[in-house]
Amino acid sequence: MEERHLNHLEPLGPLYEMAQNQFLKAAELIDLEENIKNFLLWPQKILTVHFPVMLDDGRVQMFVGYRVQHNTARGPAKGGIRYHPNVNLDEVASLAFWMTWKCAVMNLPYGGGKGGVKVDPYKLSERELERLSRRFFSEIQFMIGPNKDIPAPDVNTNSKIMAWYMDTYSMNVGVTTLGVVTGKPVDLGGSAGRAEATGRGVAIVANEAADVLGMDIRNTTVAIQGFGNVGSYAAKIISEEYGAKIVAVSDISGGIYNADGLDIDDLIKYRDENDGVIKGYPGGEPISNRDLLTLDVDILVPAALENAITEDIARDVRAKIIVEGANGPTTAEAEKILLEKGIFIIPDILANAGGVTVSYFEWVQDLQSFFWDIDDIRKKLKKMMVREFGEVYKTMKKFKTDMRTAAYIVAIDRVASAVRKRGYYPM
Ligand code: NAD
Repeated sequence: MEERHLNHLEPLGPLYEMAQNQFLKAAELIDLEENIKNFLLWPQKILTVHFPVMLDDGRVQMFVGYRVQHNTARGPAKGGIRYHPNVNLDEVASLAFWMTWKCAVMNLPYGGGKGGVKVDPYKLSERELERLSRRFFSEIQFMIGPNKDIPAPDVNTNSKIMAWYMDTYSMNVGVTTLGVVTGKPVDLGGSAGRAEATGRGVAIVANEAADVLGMDIRNTTVAIQGFGNVGSYAAKIISEEYGAKIVAVSDISGGIYNADGLDIDDLIKYRDENDGVIKGYPGGEPISNRDLLTLDVDILVPAALENAITEDIARDVRAKIIVEGANGPTTAEAEKILLEKGIFIIPDILANAGGVTVSYFEWVQDLQSFFWDIDDIRKKLKKMMVREFGEVYKTMKKFKTDMRTAAYIVAIDRVASAVRKRGYYPM
């Protein structure tokens, strides 16, 4: 085929290019066919919406939002919706791309999707936030549905917003449709254990990594960047259930360090009573975000946003294990340095997959209108995460590569198999 038929797609941005390069590194190791490689490099559907929201003072403000479906070969698209002033198409497309591999690495019957609205939700009143959420969901609704694309919470979105989304969709189609979003309130079709799921998954794989590296997690020290949904539950579960010592955590307001270990329940209580931030917590000394990332600890959990560990920080990182609670927290240049230093990185698509796994449980429960108890959920999550960690670790050994590339290999293998069997309609 002539070259001009192949490489004429518009680049989506630097983050998406970094994600494509992660994919290509693995695709080359397994000699993935050109046809499949070209197909999987690009998102299938991209929707941009500009929409009006009536502010409380009667003015109308325009917002921009996105929904991207990267690939749906294995099932409906799945992925969160983020509200953040930095949301852009490059970021949303990258997150959708990662969702394809995250769902596949966990062997969930989903493809990858993601959405976002460029907004600082803290600057909106409650009513404005509700109007924005309902209008955005109506705008993207033609792409969404329990068998098409199932959104979930991400940064700055939560169960309350998921309830508004579910209600908006249901009002528009005239049928209460619980399975259209996950991460809903537990008494409105949500699943027990969804709120803690990503943090729990982080704790489970941290324990597995300690195990394969011959460390006892009960003797390890941990630093966590980000004390939101993922960071705070990871801190609580790694310390309470696995016995590790959390010596430092940080959030947007700064960090707290205590060499004797932080009391995580107390810190969560403090955060909840202090506008959601940990600044000023009296149970430790202040520490900067940079110093936290380079602390002499066994396990480092970046659980805030992308690009937290840059090349410059990577040179000073002293942790033995990095568990990527956030999506894309390590830049490509930083990763090279970390790997050269022999640091064991559990990649985001595996490390933070606990959330989408329990979202999958929620969707299955909604479709069956039959709900499971928390012990069942925790047991099933642990079984699946331990199994797929093992699969990725085995693949890493087999291909003599790193854990990220191994996770991609496992995931690409599963998605490629679906593509091969489905073919390229119309043939
Ligand atoms: P969140 O909004 O609940 O928490 C984010 C935390 O990061 C907050 O504590 C915030 O203060 C902190 N933060 C923001 N900027 C920071 C900075 N510059 N330095 C230090 N801390 C900073 O969000 P979340 O749901 O916990 O998500 C965190 C990350 O995990 C994101 O990358 C998200 O995509 C990823 N993730 C979340 C889930 C989930 O189930 N919530 C699942 C998979 C992946």
